[in-house]
Amino acid sequence: MAGSNPLRHGQICAADDAAIAAAAALIRAGQCVAVPTETVYGLAGDATDAAAIAAIYAAKGRPSFNPLITHVADMDMAERLAIWNAPARALAAAFWPGALTMVLPLRDGSGVAGAVTAGLPTIALRCPAHPVMRALIAAVGRPLAAPSANVSGSVSPTSAAHVAASLGGRVPMILDGGACATGLESTIVAVKDDALTLLRPGPILAGDLGAVIGLTIRTHDGAEINAPGQLARHYAPGKPVLLDCDTPPADAFWISFGKAAGDYPLSAAGDLAQAAAHLFDALHAGAAAPHPRIAIDPIPNHGIGMAINDRLRRAAVLD
Ligand code: AMP
Ligand code: MG
Repeated sequence: MAGSNPLRHGQICAADDAAIAAAAALIRAGQCVAVPTETVYGLAGDATDAAAIAAIYAAKGRPSFNPLITHVADMDMAERLAIWNAPARALAAAFWPGALTMVLPLRDGSGVAGAVTAGLPTIALRCPAHPVMRALIAAVGRPLAAPSANVSGSVSPTSAAHVAASLGGRVPMILDGGACATGLESTIVAVKDDALTLLRPGPILAGDLGAVIGLTIRTHDGAEINAPGQLARHYAPGKPVLLDCDTPPADAFWISFGKAAGDYPLSAAGDLAQAAAHLFDALHAGAAAPHPRIAIDPIPNHGIGMAINDRLRRAAVLD
């Protein structure tokens, strides 16, 4: 129709200045948009708009008890949303912008919609490094809630095509910034004056966090801190996943590590950062392949390998 908005639902747009401005206008009008970050693609909406947040949960089919990460442009925006302590400030100075999410007490009058935090008295904050996400937050001028841009429980997206395959019909626009450089979701820590608790392993290593603030990092045991989203089953590719498999069965799609053999070598050179960047694309490829199951080479459990193995363990949990 002449004069109507030419945007089709799920349209992939190269993330240039005009597309970022159009995405910001959609978000200010209460819609959500898929956007690249350095970790995975996010489904971003105005964190202060309850209807936009409801639309994010609906598009993903995400359970309402699983709170969202709120993305900020800078410390000024972050200070308005949470009550900060000294270790959290030190961590932000060392690792923001970047793949670190901190859970802090929610500030009264933050303006954040209750569904963002699933009613918890805490908020999860991240200042992302990706230039497209940073430009989008700046253009909207408000904090953006953004979970991964995929149907809840399925493999996270690291390309615009992954988003289109999972959510294409449910989001008005997908900003295409190419493949995500890091490829795994952020490290999440709950930060108190005297304690740091790892809620989700990720690209920023627990030991590096502890070293910056001189606190030992505790592993989440479910007792003290409410971390409702750490579900055992997640990243499900829709078929069985065999872990630690260096001699795969003939009918398996083999995701290998440290060798060129296999259906999808994560990193022939045995580089864990490269393997992390390829992991979700490999799981998407395995899901789309005709093979009835997926087999994965053992991944060394150090450095970012711990985050890779965390995701793989959840991908292997059956219904
Ligand atoms: P995703 O959006 O899929 O990357 O998941 C975000 C993760 O952050 C989920 O596992 C949530 O449970 C976690 N999260 C968000 N807000 C909080 C919070 N206030 N306290 C603890 N965990 C949180
Ligand atoms: Mg997710």
